Amino acid sequence: MPNCIKCGTQNAENAVFCSTCGLALNQSPMMVHTSTYENITTKGTNGFAITALILGIISLLLSPLSILAIIFGGVGIGQTGPNSNYKGRGMAIAGLVLGIVAIVLWVGILIWDFSSISGSSIVGTSLSV
Ligand SMILES: [Zn+2]
Repeated sequence: MPNCIKCGTQNAENAVFCSTCGLALNQSPMMVHTSTYENITTKGTNGFAITALILGIISLLLSPLSILAIIFGGVGIGQTGPNSNYKGRGMAIAGLVLGIVAIVLWVGILIWDFSSISGSSIVGTSLSV
């Protein structure tokens, strides 16, 4: 005996629509509650996007963090997609890009470092970096 979630009318066991207001009865109260909850909470900025942007900026100074910035940026982009109400897609993309830039810079510096040093000291230099 499904109760209508809109008007509360108790309908017949096999009823598809509410006999009073015509609402489809195959929506469970939990689903309605969840979508209402999401509508309230998805207004905020995505946490992964914020974290990605911060990590991206920091990774320009501390290169190993760039890997985290890329991971958080990727997750942030995924969670701020067209079907999401989250804000912060631009921040997530910025974090991802900054992370990639940091890795490119880091690798570039390492290659430049290697090429500017004679062969015998390469191992010691790479360990000290
Ligand atoms: Zn109803």
